[in-house]
Amino acid sequence: MRNLSVAKFGGTSVANHAAMVACAKIVTADPNTRIVVLSASAGITNLLVELAAGCDEGKREQLLVEVRRIQENILNELADASLVRPEIERLLESIKSLSEAASLATSPALTDELISHGEMMSTRIFIQVLRELNVQATWLDVRNLIATNSNFGKAAPDDEKTLKNSRLILKPLIDHGELVITQGFIGRDEKGRTTTLGRGGSDYSAALIAEILEAKDVLIWTDVAGIYTTDPRVVPQARRIDTMSFAEAAEMATFGAKVLHPATLLPAVRSNIPVYVGSSKAPQDGGTWVTRDPQPRPTFRAIALRRDQTLLTLSSLNMLHAQGFLAKVFGILAQHKISVDTITTSEVSIALTLDKTGSTSSATDLLSRDLLSQLSEICTVKVDTGLSLVALIGNDLHIASGVAKRIFSTLENYNIRMISYGASTNNICMLTYSEHADDIVRALHKELFEN
Ligand code: ADP
Ligand code: ASP
Ligand code: MG
Repeated sequence: MRNLSVAKFGGTSVANHAAMVACAKIVTADPNTRIVVLSASAGITNLLVELAAGCDEGKREQLLVEVRRIQENILNELADASLVRPEIERLLESIKSLSEAASLATSPALTDELISHGEMMSTRIFIQVLRELNVQATWLDVRNLIATNSNFGKAAPDDEKTLKNSRLILKPLIDHGELVITQGFIGRDEKGRTTTLGRGGSDYSAALIAEILEAKDVLIWTDVAGIYTTDPRVVPQARRIDTMSFAEAAEMATFGAKVLHPATLLPAVRSNIPVYVGSSKAPQDGGTWVTRDPQPRPTFRAIALRRDQTLLTLSSLNMLHAQGFLAKVFGILAQHKISVDTITTSEVSIALTLDKTGSTSSATDLLSRDLLSQLSEICTVKVDTGLSLVALIGNDLHIASGVAKRIFSTLENYNIRMISYGASTNNICMLTYSEHADDIVRALHKELFEN
């Protein structure tokens, strides 16, 4: 359906009544937008993740009150909440009983079930916001659409089943001319259990839905007017990038630009669907179009920052002139479903960072005791935390002359713990101590983007 757009609104865009009304106006202003994907209201998913981890009664009560407060604030602004209040009360009750269960024994399946309630509530309320603007919309439980595997916390969609579901339940609604409101972030496994696609996964949901409907584009409405040369919260001088390629956006997302979930670009690239990023608060400010092959492709495109990195240094004299050591290490990491992010090696040691990108919805630690003890059997293991990864994203960085000189002279006063340069033509990664990360981003941005 090449005249169809899928719009997605993030947490801050549905944080309160006024923000929801702004979203409703964006939807109604564009007749092509026939399906809307929503996140939970800002703050809700974090609270639900905490509840799902299990806590004592006092803490639980406090978190439940906070969840209720956020939703009540919106309900109280509605002209008539009576149509939606009973459903929100039912969902709040369900959150309460699932939280009690989590405090007795938590599990990944229970966590996903619990945190899915955020999107359930925001979509129910949004239907009423639209109704009060005289817009009729149909609420769809996205779990009947997005089929996934059972990898709770970071479930992978089953494209074939999802397409089948779409033919049965979504396409008929769209063909009938209905405006469909549904949830991002969540899906359902074969056994009927709720799953989630990983934190920030609503962008991914929107792109998946755009792909199955063969939509003309995905419109990601958020709290910034596009994708910037770096996070505008860190560098106010950051500039909006008007057009960029899928590849550049994917690199940015992978290396920490939270504005897009890293998986969003998968369906977009596969099916060549342009992605637009704009501000729901200020749609008139314009935004960024991410497409397959826009021009120009500058050497320096953007700087991404990923905080909270873990560095593993593995040393063993057995590595000297030996074969197969890396294979063993990678084998153990793979067994624990951990993918390696950046890596450098020397004669007797390997330093690597762990990839937390698109990490699971629950905040479980990547480095289990079991993993560390398995690694310790073959080498000495050192774990460093408090690190951040700064990635310079660009084009043909490996052949551009003078790149390294510009970077290192800009950063001569900072301690860089590890560098990855050359593996990709699109990025240069530097691992730094977190306390210097913002300053490094600012200094690099000034040198490369503010002249
Ligand atoms: P949403 O809730 O709408 O999904 P997110 O908080 O996930 O929004 O993403 C938007 C945020 O991404 C912005 O507020 C901004 O701080 C951050 N961000 C990080 N890097 C960039 C960038 N390069 N350009 C724009 N925003 C960025
Ligand atoms: N509500 C989910 C989260 O906070 C999904 C999303 O916002 O994209 O991670
Ligand atoms: Mg997001």
